[in-house]
Amino acid sequence: MAEIDYSSEIKRLKKEKNAVILAHYYQNDDVQDVADYLGDSLKLSQTAKDTDADIIVFCGVHFMAETAKILSSQKKVLLPVMDAGCAMADGITREALQAYKDQHPDTKIITYVNTSADVKAVSDCICTSTNGLKIIQHYLDAGEKILYAPDQNLGKYAMHLSGKEFEVWNGCCPIHHFLDKNKVLEQKKKHPDALIISHPECQLDILEISDYVGSTAQLISFVKQSKAKEFIVCTEQGVLHPMELQNPDKKFYVGSKSLVCHSMKKTSLEDVYNCLKNETNEIFVDEDVAQKAINALYTMFALSK
Ligand code: SF4
Repeated sequence: MAEIDYSSEIKRLKKEKNAVILAHYYQNDDVQDVADYLGDSLKLSQTAKDTDADIIVFCGVHFMAETAKILSSQKKVLLPVMDAGCAMADGITREALQAYKDQHPDTKIITYVNTSADVKAVSDCICTSTNGLKIIQHYLDAGEKILYAPDQNLGKYAMHLSGKEFEVWNGCCPIHHFLDKNKVLEQKKKHPDALIISHPECQLDILEISDYVGSTAQLISFVKQSKAKEFIVCTEQGVLHPMELQNPDKKFYVGSKSLVCHSMKKTSLEDVYNCLKNETNEIFVDEDVAQKAINALYTMFALSK
């Protein structure tokens, strides 16, 4: 039997079904290459909200497809691999956050986008790594008591920058949290002219030795405009693919070989093809949950402007 050319078939099916493919920067390179929109959580959630496609195939992890469904309830949202989850999102439940809320009714709850729809539904505002610092600062400037959940590292980084104390949940992304500073310093020794650039989900000891800290989208635009020629990248290594494509004259090194999110790498081109062809793995979100979550997401969009 002749082998299927997945890229061509996916292109054909997209047209036939008025579908778009959204892919996160941490996806496998070949999956990134078939995407109509490549981005971080903020860009992809905005794209899901604005697209007029009938079908969204979300190449990412479960909470991302769920967020797309919340923002585009009338569209069919498909996730090529149903058990592609996120360890950070799995580390916090609606019940735990609701219990905190019940005990602290006057505290505003700012929740990272890497959470389930259920958790978003009990939050006042969502944020991503691109707009997190701005949104936290907005609530601090307004004199509000806040809880930032669930990523302790972005929360601690915001405290460090603002000089203000607030409550932070104890969650993390294990990929970023367990990045060993010594591995990064080894890379720096090998490449002394390289700038260290890091995601705020890394611990403060990594951020303190970094030349630049930002979300995946911010790291990508930083390297594009930088005069430097070499970079040590401290985030999931999928991000090196767009960096290398956009900057053929620059060199990129991973902060450590451990920077691989196996959940993000579960999706293959074959999965994308099968999911689109058979319209399987549809994502559904309870209407009441979606309505509550959408309020928190729209508060984020309003505060990100
Ligand atoms: S890299 Fe971390 S935060 Fe991102 S999907 Fe993987 S486990 Fe979740």
